[in-house]
Amino acid sequence: MPLAPVLTKRFGTDQPWKIENYERLDGYAGLRKALTMTPDDLIGLVKDANLRGRGGAGFPTGMKWSFVAEPKGVPRGDRYVVVNADEGEPGTCRDMPLMMNDPHSMVEGIIISCFAIRAARAFIYIRGEAVHAIRRVTAAVEQARARGYLGTDILGSGFDCEITVHAGAGAYICGEETALLDSLEGRRGQPRLKPPFPATNGLYQKPTTVNNVGTLASVPYIVLGGSDWFKKMGPEGSPGPCIYSLSGRVKNPGQYEAPMGTTLRELLELAGGMSRGKELKFWTPGGSSTPMFTAEQLDIPLDFDAAVKAGSMNGTSAVMIFDEDDCVVRAVQKWSDFYAHESCGKCTPCREGTYWYVAIFDRLEHGGGTIEDVETLLDLSDNILGRAFCALGDGATSPVMSSIKYFREEYLAHVEHNGCPHAGARTLAGA
Ligand code: NAD
Repeated sequence: MPLAPVLTKRFGTDQPWKIENYERLDGYAGLRKALTMTPDDLIGLVKDANLRGRGGAGFPTGMKWSFVAEPKGVPRGDRYVVVNADEGEPGTCRDMPLMMNDPHSMVEGIIISCFAIRAARAFIYIRGEAVHAIRRVTAAVEQARARGYLGTDILGSGFDCEITVHAGAGAYICGEETALLDSLEGRRGQPRLKPPFPATNGLYQKPTTVNNVGTLASVPYIVLGGSDWFKKMGPEGSPGPCIYSLSGRVKNPGQYEAPMGTTLRELLELAGGMSRGKELKFWTPGGSSTPMFTAEQLDIPLDFDAAVKAGSMNGTSAVMIFDEDDCVVRAVQKWSDFYAHESCGKCTPCREGTYWYVAIFDRLEHGGGTIEDVETLLDLSDNILGRAFCALGDGATSPVMSSIKYFREEYLAHVEHNGCPHAGARTLAGA
């Protein structure tokens, strides 16, 4: 359990988004130190810290950086850092509060990562609807430039770096890294075939590292604190601090920083317990795209390895909590509506599969559902999982398959009742 906050240590202090307040609390000290190191030593440090991508997939950040830094003969200007600040996974509210409260920790991390991978420009891709975050981050970039942390010859080191803030147009698919790159290049955001990965063929087909907000915000602390300090927090395979976002039937929903590997039982304690004095029924460990868990799994460490071992994923650490009065079928129906709406339509399994999900869930909830429908949902999932072009399709199958695994009886009750038996019930997934 957390002793001293790291990523959220400035939250609640006096206007922490202002550069002078950020500097007062070690701000840009990590950059100053990084500029005394070699790029290779910096990559080695991040590798040794075993920082894993906080966007959801948990890919080792140092390794990702080393791929981009590697290609020989690629000039500095022909490599990019792209920040994925398009946070859109249902239930996820972690990057936006971080950018609103402490935008400079991300900006500092971006400059350090550019230095490490030998890039001269970074792009921050932020959800278009998050106008408040776009303004806050743009102001932070301007303040950093005015202070000499961006521009030419940064702090007299000879290193040049610029950051461009780019507003997306609010499409979930643009959080998928290759769709994001297409969108950034001015095209319709649709995923590219991988491989090649952005590490070799990224923005404008140049070597590019795409990192999440929380990943980059962790970097200045690693540079200052060292890899051993970082590895003391959380399990060996997924160390470091993590911001968990808790929502739903908890007394105090919000962001809770804790070491990776914290359990839901511990997080519930931090959030004051269940909100209505009811029993917990089901929950997502990392957004709707991660298979749900039940009250039986409160003690699973929420980290990249343990969650997978237990049959789910840590994902975005977005814990959505539902109680005994919530209808699981209705919750999954709402998520399925979301995936069908957000499917980019490029590949058939995702485009058609999510369309059929919507039709079947409508029958189950509103009457006309059959026992065969439940089997068809599983069959459809089988035909989407691993066959879709990107992770959106796979994500859509997670709540469907896991809810049938744990709550088949409730699906059958919908068939027997010819509609939702929870008369007038409303779930948190959509009122
Ligand atoms: P992925 O496992 O395919 O890739 C993860 C990262 O590692 C990518 O940057 C990829 O380029 C890189 N990578 C993987 N293998 C590589 C290789 N061999 N060489 C070079 N680079 C390599 O996962 P993904 O499809 O990028 O992301 C899926 C995750 O996104 C899910 O876990 C989900 O939780 C998360 N997600 C997050 C949000 C959000 O709002 N933050 C939204 C939707 C999904």
